[in-house]
Amino acid sequence: MEQRIKGTTGLLALFGSPVGHSGSPAMYNFSFQHDGVDYAYVCFDIKEDQMKDAVAAVKLFNMRGFNVTMPCKNVAAQLVDELSPAARIIGAVNTVVNENGKLIGHMTDGAGFVRNLKEHGVEVEGKKIVVLGAGGAATAIQVECALCGAKSISIYNANDPFLERARGTAEKIKAEVPDCDVKVTCLDDQDQLRADIAEADILINATLVGMKPHEEGTLIADTAMFHEGLVVADTVYNPLETRLMREAKEAGCKVVGGEGMLLWQGAIAYKLYTGLDMPVAEYQAFKNAQ
Ligand code: NAD
Repeated sequence: MEQRIKGTTGLLALFGSPVGHSGSPAMYNFSFQHDGVDYAYVCFDIKEDQMKDAVAAVKLFNMRGFNVTMPCKNVAAQLVDELSPAARIIGAVNTVVNENGKLIGHMTDGAGFVRNLKEHGVEVEGKKIVVLGAGGAATAIQVECALCGAKSISIYNANDPFLERARGTAEKIKAEVPDCDVKVTCLDDQDQLRADIAEADILINATLVGMKPHEEGTLIADTAMFHEGLVVADTVYNPLETRLMREAKEAGCKVVGGEGMLLWQGAIAYKLYTGLDMPVAEYQAFKNAQ
């Protein structure tokens, strides 16, 4: 690694707080080295009120770009010069590319999710989709699925402040993608949820339920809601297999976990930074050997 850093080395970084646990430096630096790309990637612990200075530093240091994690994704979208269509609708960015001094913001979470489904042989175009959740990950997935031609998106959220956010997202999707039929329902309406899942092709969990330390939780306690032909996808990647996935698999559904979403959102950002396909298989083999 030390031998790789030269006077010409371009810098990329992750901004957010906390960032110490991030797997991004390992993934990007492995890939830069593998591809012989003269970049290095580090993490900076940056709070929301420090983002303005951080973005100014990106321009000052002529950094190639940066990723953004919680809690800075929304504020970063307001500080860049241009937004991709998905980032504009969502109002948040997780990847920013410096194109000759102009900062272009992207949101690759939803695209990473959709790409991971595709890797598992599942297309979203023309599909009826039920999404549980309305937070950051859920919103990115809802917008990307609509942009990718989903037939309908039924958003379910608990009766918490995210329910209102879901209504806002639905309005934006209706305005931008009028062909996609979007509706929002409170998770308390279990009869409607049962009816929508019965009609659905894909069920997605994009809530904290199922994630450590809530790994014994599931929003589909009635496993009779699973049916043949339903794809069940979880955004949770810790644990790798959630209770939702385990029970859906037992009921005969195809299941897709959240680890691939994490990998592909990074790979999509890598392509934006370098123009290259990330060496995904090589990185996975490297990681598994650790
Ligand atoms: P967030 O805080 O923005 O949203 C939280 C969501 O969880 C809200 O919809 C909230 O209503 C719901 N929720 C929380 N507790 C609940 C409960 N007890 N019952 C029902 N709903 C509940 O969080 P986020 O950043 O969007 O993360 C959501 C999930 O997405 C997490 O599990 C996270 O691990 C996952 N995620 C995965 C990736 C990936 O790359 N695989 C990326 C980002 C987030």
